Amino acid sequence: MALLDQLIAGIRNATIEVVDLTARLESTTPIIMLPPPFGNTIPFSMQEISRYDERGPAWYWNNISTGEHTGTHFDAPVHWVTGRDGEDVSSVPATSLIAPAVVLDFSAEAAADADFLLEVEHVRQWESAHGALPDGCWLLYRTGWDARSGSQQDFLNANETGPHTPGMSIECAKWLANEAPIIGVGVETVGTDAGTAHSFDPPFPCHSHLLGAGKYGLTQLQNVARLPVTGAVVIAGPLPIVAGSGSPARVLALVEHA
Ligand code: MN
Repeated sequence: MALLDQLIAGIRNATIEVVDLTARLESTTPIIMLPPPFGNTIPFSMQEISRYDERGPAWYWNNISTGEHTGTHFDAPVHWVTGRDGEDVSSVPATSLIAPAVVLDFSAEAAADADFLLEVEHVRQWESAHGALPDGCWLLYRTGWDARSGSQQDFLNANETGPHTPGMSIECAKWLANEAPIIGVGVETVGTDAGTAHSFDPPFPCHSHLLGAGKYGLTQLQNVARLPVTGAVVIAGPLPIVAGSGSPARVLALVEHA
């Protein structure tokens, strides 16, 4: 059977599961909150154009307003100053939107310490157990944070010292950007960096190093717990916003069951 026929047959007979990694997009979808003097994104919203009424008797449609970085979304290199000469979201090759994925599960560590940081040594230990990171893969960093996504307060987990959410160390970000064969990092949190990363040097090192290296980010993923440690394929679909720094994205994973 031709490969694509095999794929469709596998999806229909459930030997290939399609796992939706996307958060629902609505006005209550959590968004990042930067402190003054920085600008902030707007929440997602809808404005009704018509709903089977005098404005349009047979049709229902809406205008939507959203930030590029709202809900489950894709970070393009140009999002960061280090990647300012890199790809905008419309320039990301379509072939880069389908890639293998591996899952590094640090949900227990993040539950014990909201400021938990992924280190190079953690990735090396993972490689000892599961093999080298596949070429061109997404590194999906599981922290259990998707369980908090129903509440902006729980999701951002901020107190008087700022937000407290798991992320990665400066050294790890630099290593993933420059040494690891990954295409990007996917997280369950509001951004790819730790909540405390505003105080790092450089600030927001995952953004700074990875986007500066032409790599990508995926944020606010759901259902990463349903993926195998290795072997899933991720299909990420950001909108090709011309000159855009990112886009809300539908992110799906294909998982093969024996
Ligand atoms: Mn973003």
